[in-house]
Amino acid sequence: MFEVRPKPGLVGIVGAGGAGLAAAQAMQARGVPYVLWETGSGLGGNSR
Ligand SMILES: Cc1cc2nc3c(=O)[nH]c(=O)nc-3n(C[C@H](O)[C@H](O)[C@H](O)COP(=O)(O)OP(=O)(O)OC[C@H]3O[C@@H](n4cnc5c(N)ncnc54)[C@H](O)[C@@H]3O)c2cc1C
Repeated sequence: MFEVRPKPGLVGIVGAGGAGLAAAQAMQARGVPYVLWETGSGLGGNSR
């Protein structure tokens, strides 16, 4: 059984593709501080 237990602190998200943006949205909705790194020039990853 897999259980997610949120811990206080800063979450690091690598890549602003669909997965990264979804993770950022989930963090935002839960009030969890995060930093999102994107190496490219825009958001969206492969779907751009
Ligand atoms: C040619 C092609 C066509 C596709 N067509 C479709 C389609 O029609 N429909 C569909 O549903 N899916 C399609 N897909 C699949 C879809 O693009 C992927 O499933 C989806 O983009 C994966 O999202 P992701 O966030 O995991 O990765 P990605 O979209 O690849 O995003 C990853 C991001 O991380 C960034 N990154 C990488 N390394 C670092 C680093 N070290 N530091 C900071 N940032 C970093 C990249 O610049 C990128 O912005 C296609 C894929 C390809 C290649």
